[in-house]
Amino acid sequence: MIVFDLLCGAGHRFEGWYNSAADFASQQERRLLNCPSCGDGQVRRVPSATRANLGAEPPKPAPKRVPGKTPDMEGKDPFAIAQMLYSRMLDELLTNTEDVGRDFPTKARDIFYERAPGRPIRGQATDEEHQELVDEGIPVARFPLPPKEGLN
Ligand SMILES: [Zn+2]
Repeated sequence: MIVFDLLCGAGHRFEGWYNSAADFASQQERRLLNCPSCGDGQVRRVPSATRANLGAEPPKPAPKRVPGKTPDMEGKDPFAIAQMLYSRMLDELLTNTEDVGRDFPTKARDIFYERAPGRPIRGQATDEEHQELVDEGIPVARFPLPPKEGLN
């Protein structure tokens, strides 16, 4: 379906739904289109962008969406928001991963080489162990765990 902004000869604007542009053109040609307000048959298509010029309500601009942004972040400075988002991401990470602790390098290899069922895990690795995993092409990411205080 496709929606067109339509204008009748008397200046009424309305929307019409059609299967396609060709469907609309065919109905227009056969004068099957009528204004729902006054029944006028002189219906033509107008670009949506002209809405504001015709005295009708201008379309509301889409609210700017920041991924993951929630109302409680309104009015906070970007740094605080970044911290909140980071904190939430960490929460998610901690909730959705299995903590394998110091076994992390071993478990990560087991999963990567399919010696163990694939699942999201987290744990600790030394700098050296982390680098070895990276060198082997095993997808690992490091997250510094900040103290909980001050992040909410
Ligand atoms: Zn009309």
